Amino acid sequence: MGVPPRPILTSVDWITVDLYEYQARDMFEKHGVPVLRGIVADTPDEARAAAEKIGGVTVVKAQVKTGGRGKAGGVKVAKTPDEAFDAAKAILGLDIKGHVVKRLMVAEGADIKEEYYFSVLLDRANRSYLSLCSYEGGMEIEQLAVERPEALARVEVDPIEGITLAKAKEIAVAAKFPAELVDKVAPVLVTLYDVYTKEDATLVEVNPLVLTGSGEVLALDGKITLDANADFRQADHAALEDKAAADPLEAKAKENDLNYVKLDGEVGIIGNGAGLVMSTLDVVAYAGEKFGGVKPANFLDIGGGASAEVMAAGLSVILGDAQVKSVFVNVFGGITACDAVANGIVAALDILGDKATKPLVVRLDGNSVEKGREILAARNHPLVSLATTMDDGAARAAELAAK
Ligand code: GDP
Ligand code: MN
Repeated sequence: MGVPPRPILTSVDWITVDLYEYQARDMFEKHGVPVLRGIVADTPDEARAAAEKIGGVTVVKAQVKTGGRGKAGGVKVAKTPDEAFDAAKAILGLDIKGHVVKRLMVAEGADIKEEYYFSVLLDRANRSYLSLCSYEGGMEIEQLAVERPEALARVEVDPIEGITLAKAKEIAVAAKFPAELVDKVAPVLVTLYDVYTKEDATLVEVNPLVLTGSGEVLALDGKITLDANADFRQADHAALEDKAAADPLEAKAKENDLNYVKLDGEVGIIGNGAGLVMSTLDVVAYAGEKFGGVKPANFLDIGGGASAEVMAAGLSVILGDAQVKSVFVNVFGGITACDAVANGIVAALDILGDKATKPLVVRLDGNSVEKGREILAARNHPLVSLATTMDDGAARAAELAAK
């Protein structure tokens, strides 16, 4: 394939798990990060009971995997248990950026004097870790990065050395903390880095990290993204995965044992073998640039077998994605012969009937390719067209998606 440089795929985050704030809070506590008490509540009555247990002022917080809950009315201060009940009633069922609130955390109220920002994350582009820190918190970090980039320190963290106390101080100084606060904040950054490495996270973010009226530094809101590749050595991580809140398409794919990841584009992708599917994503993204920037809609590896059932399950997941406008099936027959795959496609289309509504571009190559093409040609399905090469198929699928 004599091709120019391909776009590099950097947004495939199919191997990570985002935690809820209450799960992050528990993990922080486990590693010695200073946090306040927090109790999960699923009903207003439970919220009232939690507030009674904690005593004093509490904060009722929506548990959804998105930021900006405060602005959306998902964080409310309650002075009494009855106020916590009312706050819970108001927050449960709220739609925050497409996430409906089903669970709350009732947290001990904090007397906030100042708000800061800190995160440490995997920096794929530089094959390193990166910490971001700001003395100016209380703003969404994306906004801060754009409006006041000089206020956001970016400090590379060597994965071998990690965040030692000295490194933490360097970060705090870079973030423009005044000298007397550097010594107070630095040990907390060290504990946050403990969370990051010991839990195999790719992101630990605290916004806000606060200074209280009595001079304590506390992590008031946490976001943790775990690297699911490390699940083999993190026995308790599987329990943190939330099947219900996962993307419904991903959940359906999981039920069918499909290696599926929802992406943000319009061209559905089916292939066999992770390597081929990865490169198909790149080829489609590249071809899509000529057609108004259409992109791959998903990663789906149907693996070796490619039986009719697997093909039907895969197609039905992809066709269930409202964003999908066309589908590119890219199969290289190795152990699996192309005629079996072609039969799988034909049978899948029969199984799906009029649920199959979007054009399919099929590229087959390798073992028994002629037989495979014959089967598809003979069936002559109105939605299916054959491509001879991967680039040709990608271009046609992208063009169809752009229509
Ligand atoms: P986010 O909007 O989703 O990031 O939710 P946060 O947990 O960061 O809460 C938003 C804001 O609510 C924080 O920046 C604080 O200003 C405020 N807040 C959160 N917890 C408390 C608390 O215990 N006491 C007080 N007074 N304010 C709080
Ligand atoms: Mn926050």
